[in-house]
Amino acid sequence: MKVLVTGGTGYIGSHTIVELINHGYEVVAVDDFSNSKPIVLDKLKEITGQKINFYELDVCDKEKLRRVFKENKIDAVIHFAGYKAVGESVEKPLMYYRNNLDSTITLLEVMDEFEVRKIVFSSSATVYGDPEELPIKETAKLSTTNPYGSTKLFIEGILKDVYISNNNYSIAILRYFNPVGAHPSGLLGEDPNGIPNNLMPYIVKVANKELPHLNIFGNDYDTPDGTGVRDYIHVIDLALGHISALEYIDKHTGIDYYNLGTGQGYSVLEMVSAFSEVNKVAVPYEIAPRREGDIAMCYADTTKAKQVLNWEATHSLQEMVESAYNFVVKNQK
Ligand code: UDP
Repeated sequence: MKVLVTGGTGYIGSHTIVELINHGYEVVAVDDFSNSKPIVLDKLKEITGQKINFYELDVCDKEKLRRVFKENKIDAVIHFAGYKAVGESVEKPLMYYRNNLDSTITLLEVMDEFEVRKIVFSSSATVYGDPEELPIKETAKLSTTNPYGSTKLFIEGILKDVYISNNNYSIAILRYFNPVGAHPSGLLGEDPNGIPNNLMPYIVKVANKELPHLNIFGNDYDTPDGTGVRDYIHVIDLALGHISALEYIDKHTGIDYYNLGTGQGYSVLEMVSAFSEVNKVAVPYEIAPRREGDIAMCYADTTKAKQVLNWEATHSLQEMVESAYNFVVKNQK
């Protein structure tokens, strides 16, 4: 089976390519390097022993994308490509809507032209907004608090309409909780440009003394220690979730939604202490005001992915924090 991976050199895309190749899939990857680096292709070759069939392109560029489908008999697509910084999306909403929606529509048009009907889409737990009930089930009410989240929700809607128009599609929408960690080789990991927005890459930079201290955004939430609680999931577990989804959609038409998380929530303070204990490194922090738009708690009900996709996360918190730090130690700039 030949799988097109959009956003293939990104954080989650690259880890998923490793697992695709481990599971015997043929991979065609595309990326425009807007938030990743060409060196990832060398790292992928080092890990998998295979040169990746890669096209440098923006998924909004229909002609270039068509060429990929013409030159390769694509059986299924995993669509990761997209902008993903919440704060930036608030400042530049049109850029987010233009890029994330345009790329997806272009991809779906080209898939239709070439009669490719199988797609796994990278969505996010952000589509649950501020959840009314925990753990969060896939049937929970959907809402968003920023343009990034809205692009995910709109794309879910577009995919649903595409399925309604043609029941031959097989669509899996994966709602990621908080992906962290890195490949154990230290070759792949999360490498955001500039000052990180997310907790784990920020902690890593503080531990590595690239930033003076972590700001903990609020310690007066209604949570056990007052700091925000999230469902952190090892990026390799997340990558394996895509393999399970692909196996499922290969056999079943339809559209369905799955939470990819561990089901276990950890607070910011728990993450900080796990990180420093496991890696034996100091992570100085200060309590700062709450970040606008943040919620107190968010963790998944993982029953559906277990039952339907036969997938569950197996990596521990220790492996998450250890591999995240290992990546930065091995890639000192
Ligand atoms: N967080 C924090 N300091 C930071 C970044 C994040 O205290 O520099 C907190 C944030 O308030 C939330 C948790 O860490 O409770 C996870 O935040 P992240 O941005 O990684 O993910 P999301 O908010 O999208 O779940």
